[in-house]
Amino acid sequence: MAKTLKLILGDQLNSRHSWFKKKNPDEWYLMMEIRQETDYVNHHIQKVTAIFQSMRLFAQWLKHEGHQVIYLKIGDKENFQNLEENIRHIISKKEISNFEYLFPDEYRLDIQLKNLCNSLGIKSGTCDTEHFLSDRLEVKEFFKGNKKFLMEPFYRYMRKKFDILMEGEKPVGGKWNFDHENRKKLPDNVVVPPPPDFQNDVTTLVDAIQAAGVHTIGEIIPSDFRWPRDRDQALRVLNHFCKKLLPDFGNYQDAMHDQNAYLFHSKLSFALNVKLIHPLEVIKAVESCWRENPKKYALPQVEGFIRQILGWREYMRGIYWAHMPGYGKLNFFDHQKDLPEFYWTGNTRMNCVGHAIRQSLDHAYAHHIQRLMITGNFALLAGIHPDQVDHWYLGIYIDAFQWVEITNTRGMSQFADGGLVGTKPYVSSSNYINKMSNYCNSCFYDQKKKFGDKACPFNSLYWAFYEKNKDKLFNNPRIGFVYKSLDKMKNKEALLQQAEAYLKQVNDL
Ligand code: FAD
Ligand code: SF4
Repeated sequence: MAKTLKLILGDQLNSRHSWFKKKNPDEWYLMMEIRQETDYVNHHIQKVTAIFQSMRLFAQWLKHEGHQVIYLKIGDKENFQNLEENIRHIISKKEISNFEYLFPDEYRLDIQLKNLCNSLGIKSGTCDTEHFLSDRLEVKEFFKGNKKFLMEPFYRYMRKKFDILMEGEKPVGGKWNFDHENRKKLPDNVVVPPPPDFQNDVTTLVDAIQAAGVHTIGEIIPSDFRWPRDRDQALRVLNHFCKKLLPDFGNYQDAMHDQNAYLFHSKLSFALNVKLIHPLEVIKAVESCWRENPKKYALPQVEGFIRQILGWREYMRGIYWAHMPGYGKLNFFDHQKDLPEFYWTGNTRMNCVGHAIRQSLDHAYAHHIQRLMITGNFALLAGIHPDQVDHWYLGIYIDAFQWVEITNTRGMSQFADGGLVGTKPYVSSSNYINKMSNYCNSCFYDQKKKFGDKACPFNSLYWAFYEKNKDKLFNNPRIGFVYKSLDKMKNKEALLQQAEAYLKQVNDL
């Protein structure tokens, strides 16, 4: 019988995949912890640990189910630390005549595996990961002939395709999108329920990662590690979210608070991205909450959450496959500055930026608005090179994989694609940050001041950004009002000088 080797990457831990339905004595599954994957950017220790932990348990589960598994640990002697050499070595050692892999989500791995197969000299094949709700090229097809790829029409198409929150051909509640009801600041008296009560001890694994010399960033408490490690724990996170957090999800989706990192967010992105759970089971669970108890689960909360997964997540993946590899080089504003040092330490007097960064270093997590309107906003206003911004986001977040990181960072946050994903740059002065958070209350800077001693940097940088990029943004119909205000501004020169002074000493802010 022909011997087959089947590769499973670290973010392909889908236990319900059709591959695992049958056992075959001539088939081996290959999984590997490799420096190629730990070292392509500076990764957070929690990200490396969470992925390896889930991989090890997945391999154990496969063995328990009766499959044959070859698992290379990070410190193993016969681990060549890259995909290609490991695969070649095992093919020759086991006399494999057929190699198969699941479609990778990342372009660089897609190319690497295609090239490898072309040179292996044995039969090879591919298979879908059976995880996403749209094909790689479905977004590209959907927007064929259009210049703009707006998320909303694609989201509506997906709602119909999967019959989610629909009454026949119409959206339930008479509206597709309840976004404008999802923008409340967190009141002082709101109690955020504690997280689900599992905790994992990853001490041995963290020791192994450190012993192998992997360079990481961020903190970890190895005896109390709370990212879900398998399908069972991922389902507990989902269940906890549905019971305790979903009723308030939409209300406080955009709120930020210096005492709570997670608020009413689900923390499901890691489990989803490594495929411990399927997006449709998350969406269906959330939709059922509303169908069974619409009083507890108001439609705006439920629709707001479903839109993130059925809409944004699938759309971002489609944008990625429609535009890679070129997307990874886009730099619409030609930004060239280095990422300030405080992105690696959180040591800045800007309370909002310092908090969002320290929280990211502590938990490998920040929610969407912290990523978009604090760290991303500052990087864009400060003119940081998108490559450096991308590398930071790709390394620091537990859920960061290029297909969803780069479209959010380079696209939505840095507008480096010139408006493919977003209709205008996501920048703000301190007004928005003050409206959505309690950060400004205890900041060194004065939120209300635009220039002068202790003036909030976001205020002058915001206007200077628009002034500097007038030729690129003036004709954007969503921005006209900004230039009208800028023209009328009495203290424009003082403001621009303040911004220039701040940018000169950005590391001291
Ligand atoms: P929730 O707020 O509970 O949302 C539920 C789910 O919706 C998430 O788990 C996620 O799967 C999905 N989702 C929400 N927003 C988006 C979005 N914009 N794009 C794709 N999926 C979305 N998400 C990642 O999974 N990986 C990344 O590397 C990543 N990088 C980002 C970088 C920037 C600059 C920004 C602005 C956003 C990024 N996001 C990324 C999207 C979003 O911030 C995270 O998905 C979310 O914060 C994860 O936390 P959660 O699971 O508690 O999300
Ligand atoms: Fe951030 Fe400015 Fe508010 Fe300080 S005052 S927290 S720098 S927005």
